[in-house]
Amino acid sequence: MRFDVITLFPEMFSAFTGSGITRRAVQTGKVQLYTWNPRDFTKDVYRRVDDRPFGGGPGMVMMAEPLDLALDAIAEQGVKQAVQVAPVVYVSPAGQPLTHARVVELSGLPALTLLCGRYEGVDERVLTKRVNIELSIGDFVVSGGELPAMMLMDALARQLPGVLNDAESAVQESFANGLLDCPHYTRPENYQDQTVPSVLLSGNHAQIASWRRKQALQRTLARRPDLIEKARSEGKLSKDDEAVLAEVK
Ligand code: SAH
Repeated sequence: MRFDVITLFPEMFSAFTGSGITRRAVQTGKVQLYTWNPRDFTKDVYRRVDDRPFGGGPGMVMMAEPLDLALDAIAEQGVKQAVQVAPVVYVSPAGQPLTHARVVELSGLPALTLLCGRYEGVDERVLTKRVNIELSIGDFVVSGGELPAMMLMDALARQLPGVLNDAESAVQESFANGLLDCPHYTRPENYQDQTVPSVLLSGNHAQIASWRRKQALQRTLARRPDLIEKARSEGKLSKDDEAVLAEVK
């Protein structure tokens, strides 16, 4: 999957390309990341990318033209390389909340262009004209779109075939089956007088699987009852699951 990211802080993306699973995804060519700095698309000597908001008020707003030109350059390179024109995502607190379902859907695309805002945000006219999808990473505000963009790309990369190895498999994780993940334990068996649940040491795989499912159900019911309702309405809960939930309640 190819990502073209428009950002005033391209150096921040070394966090994505430099460590862990995302680094491996880039090194093995499963993910390609290109950054584009709006400052390189300015026409004045000061290389201005922001200006004061019309109507007054605090802060600065990212100007439309450098972003427009950066988007043109990305599209032009796409045409040259004969890749499909990618949807443009603006990461924004005003976007639709990012969910696992959305991640799975977007991970099927060959490419995405990501626009990272800074300051108070971006001139609305460039959003109206050029952006296809606005996505939020949560109901809070961070200082720029770079971390949200990296979160999105990381979540997408994990869905790509071959990015995770078996041991890291994405299918067992929180949200994949509509529930939160079960608790995990590793050695030692006894840590500061807290022991590992004995079923996990039993070697009985069926019992372990049913214990894990039960834990996931209990935990989801306690922490995110909304997800239980959703899983139920989507037919993701079995009779056994309902029995566990009834017992817990
Ligand atoms: N004035 C804006 C916040 C600007 S924060 C508002 O109140 O909505 C600067 C940039 O950070 C935004 O343009 C956006 O790209 C990014 N950003 C901040 N919070 C975000 C969030 N929750 N999800 C996605 N992007 C976010």
